[in-house]
Amino acid sequence: MKTTFFPSYTIGSDAYGEIVKICRPYGNKAVVLGGEKAINAAENKIKCAVKDSSLKITGFFHFGGEASMENIERLKEIPQVKDADMIFAVGGGKAIDTGKVLAHTTVRPFFTFPTIASTCASCTSLGILYYPDGSLREYSISNIPPVHIFIDSEIIVNAPNKYLWAGIGDSMAKYFETSVSSRGDELIHSQAMGVSLGNMCNGPFVKYGEKALNDCRDHTVSPELEEIILGIIVSTGFVSNLVSMDITSGLAHAVYNGFTVLSQIEEYGHLHGEIVSYGILILLIADRQKEEFERVFRFNKSLGLPTKLSDLHSSMKDADKVIEKALKGIDVNHYPYHVTPEMIREAMESIEAYNESCK
Ligand SMILES: [Zn+2]
Repeated sequence: MKTTFFPSYTIGSDAYGEIVKICRPYGNKAVVLGGEKAINAAENKIKCAVKDSSLKITGFFHFGGEASMENIERLKEIPQVKDADMIFAVGGGKAIDTGKVLAHTTVRPFFTFPTIASTCASCTSLGILYYPDGSLREYSISNIPPVHIFIDSEIIVNAPNKYLWAGIGDSMAKYFETSVSSRGDELIHSQAMGVSLGNMCNGPFVKYGEKALNDCRDHTVSPELEEIILGIIVSTGFVSNLVSMDITSGLAHAVYNGFTVLSQIEEYGHLHGEIVSYGILILLIADRQKEEFERVFRFNKSLGLPTKLSDLHSSMKDADKVIEKALKGIDVNHYPYHVTPEMIREAMESIEAYNESCK
């Protein structure tokens, strides 16, 4: 049996104005858990929204910096957290996932308030948990997403634009990975719907991406920017909620995992979605989609996303390490063909050569 749920959502600079109307049916006490900067950005707006209503905020608490079981256990013991009927999870991926898994394990409804648009965490039922040292612990699988996503575009536009930039790369991978990973499969209804919805993670990004990023740099909320925010959070999140784990990932994320072994990735602060966007190029070459590769290559160039190894402070000398780690994970276990180390190496070399030919 498979049950799939979807959150509703509100977007706009006045999105929090709906909090009482939407949350009050779930109880009269909410606790806010989030990142420090996120709480700074959202606290006054949340307080204003619930002022003079029967919905009370029991407190605002920092989630602890890592989406770890240790932080979840610590937060669970705080009396104001125990006392709340519902959880408000505020911030980026890790803060949202902390509130999400806490809500799942204590069987309470949760609402999300993304303050950056870099991943679809605020829309999904899946929580990603880490050990306190930051290494991956487990995927906390659930089919319960937030009840509602409150997307305040004014808060997002005032966050550093690098998150939106990297979020575009990560979201576009959803289209390419689901379409390739599911190729040749007999898909059940929800999977087929998810793969088909994956198209929304391609066209709108190509159409609105550049304008949205420029508007984000200027801190201007525009229709194009809201299209991209919805693409990163809602389109990508809905696809994730619909398709199974083996289809939702693929070679672009395998390549990302590969790069995590290089110390320069952390040293230079390269972001997840930034590396994934280079992974899409590898996926397309390995899949022999030359035309699509050229299109994404031009798109990456126009947005300043990576198109070559030096953009990620690496070179062909790092290839062996990257490829070994890339193929260790589960990302290409379910794939229409066997992905070999040579395939990735050849794709890397061919992309380096293509960059040279474009000079
Ligand atoms: Zn990703």
